[in-house]
Amino acid sequence: MNSKRLTSLKYKITLAFYIILGMAIVNGIIAILLSQKLKTEIEQLVNSEAVKVTTALQLAKNSERLQIITTELNHYDTEEQRLTLLKELTTQWEYLLKDTKVLFSLETTPNTHQALNRTIDTQLYFQQQLPLLDTLTDSALQAKLQAQNIQANLAGMSSAFSDEIQAQLNLTHEHFHLLLEQKNLDGISDNLNQHQALSAYFHQGEHLFALLEEVKNSQNIVEINRLQREAMRLLIQMEEIVASMHTSDSIYLEWLSQIKQNMAGNDNLFELSRNALKSTQIANAHFGFQAKAAQEIATFTQELVDHAEEEIKIAGTNLKSDSTSFVILIFCGGILYCFFIWLTSWHFMAKGIIKPVIATRDAMNAIANEKLDTQMPTTDNLELQQMVSSLETLKTYAAQVKTMAETDGLTGCYNRRYLDNQILKELSYANDHNMPLSIVMFDLDNFKEFNDQYGHVNGDQCLRQIVNAAKSILQRPTDILARYGGEEFMLLLPSSHIEDAYKIAERLRETVIDLHIIHQGSSHSGIVTISLGVACWQPPESFDVNKLISHVDEALYRAKLAGRNRTEVFIDAR
Ligand code: GH3
Ligand code: MG
Ligand code: MG
Repeated sequence: MNSKRLTSLKYKITLAFYIILGMAIVNGIIAILLSQKLKTEIEQLVNSEAVKVTTALQLAKNSERLQIITTELNHYDTEEQRLTLLKELTTQWEYLLKDTKVLFSLETTPNTHQALNRTIDTQLYFQQQLPLLDTLTDSALQAKLQAQNIQANLAGMSSAFSDEIQAQLNLTHEHFHLLLEQKNLDGISDNLNQHQALSAYFHQGEHLFALLEEVKNSQNIVEINRLQREAMRLLIQMEEIVASMHTSDSIYLEWLSQIKQNMAGNDNLFELSRNALKSTQIANAHFGFQAKAAQEIATFTQELVDHAEEEIKIAGTNLKSDSTSFVILIFCGGILYCFFIWLTSWHFMAKGIIKPVIATRDAMNAIANEKLDTQMPTTDNLELQQMVSSLETLKTYAAQVKTMAETDGLTGCYNRRYLDNQILKELSYANDHNMPLSIVMFDLDNFKEFNDQYGHVNGDQCLRQIVNAAKSILQRPTDILARYGGEEFMLLLPSSHIEDAYKIAERLRETVIDLHIIHQGSSHSGIVTISLGVACWQPPESFDVNKLISHVDEALYRAKLAGRNRTEVFIDAR
């Protein structure tokens, strides 16, 4: 009995289906999750890196503009232009700071973070310098404007001075001619002295105005100082000339006092020029720093852009390798899925269903082909086990039917149907293997009378006794005893020659005598006897079953004729 736990085929197929479905769903979910992750990564990369690059590029653009402005600031001399540029510079620093702070919030690398922080500090520092630069430029502008006023004043004074002194010199000249006509020698001498002094005063004055004009174009403080010293020396010389002139005309001293005020008073020309120059120099130095800082920031932003590009490249590569991993993972998932499908099919379908079904079919085929010793397959499938059980019953029935089909119901020996088949087979075998085949046919003597005398029941019993006796003398498994019909039987003795068959027939006859079954109606002995005919087929005789049977029949007939209870051998008369 099968001790295995039985499982329904329906259950197995359903389970296999759910396992395959489950695997497909798991595979699908993994694929969806992975593609979602990849999508998020791409989105993140696109969003953050795109903003980063845009900002970095903006920063680079602004820092470039900053650089241009600082370069322009260094090369422009007009303070008005500088002030305008300074305003733009302020805006530019603001843009830069804003962009740098945005980048700072986006950047995650500690190194870049640090560098951005430093840049922000630098930018804040230079942004703080801007009001000072504004003030410096403005004060330089104011000083320059004031100096220009003084210059304009001095220029007017110079022209008036020149006209005035020229007129005085002309007057002196006219006066000289008058004195010459009058032949006033003392007057002439005084006039000449006066003229000489006036002329020297005029030249020194011209020189002084030229010096003061020079201050406008002076580019360094040492030069201005030298000009101031020179101017002061000329002023003193002019004062001395005026003192030596012994004139009561105060115009010359008035001139000098006016000039002196512009040279040495509050906010004088030299001081203003120096102030303007100093402010410009300080401002220039600062502009230099600004330009340097702008240069540094431009370099830094360029590096930043390069870095961002590099990061995008790396992220792109990572993304590529991620997508490759994704493909590999999906591929492996697919392989795993196929493997599970194969395993499930193999386990449930091939091993669990198809194999036992085939085994059951083979068993059915074997039984159908009368191989009744076939082993029944074992299975854990409920439906198949039910089939196997039914098959087992069928096998039993088949065995019974076979026995019934081949066996004589009364005596238990083989019947005529079996004999007809077997005699054909044995003759064919003998023919093929060049071997003899002997047959013995025997018939009970006066059996009709036995029945009449003792009844059919005893007749049947007698038949059974004789069959058992015949069975007992057959020693080889290939020897066959069959009921030919009524109370006639046949022995089929393959590979036996006629002599051996005769011996067996005689032994059977004697054995029947030894049974000592009383038969009063027997014509000679008072017991049941049999008559036997023996015939043998051997090569190269023709293959003819009917002929062989007619031979043995003939021999039996002769035995009956010869008086019964004897054995006759068929001898071919030819
Ligand atoms: P012979 O010696 O010439 O053979 O004489 P016989 O009486 O035996 O002659 P026959 O062959 O004509 O008779 C055969 C008898 O065998 C007839 C029949 O009643 C009997 N018989 C045939 N089959 C059976 C059977 O199955 N059971 C019984 N009890 N008798 C049978
Ligand atoms: Mg008979
Ligand atoms: Mg008979």
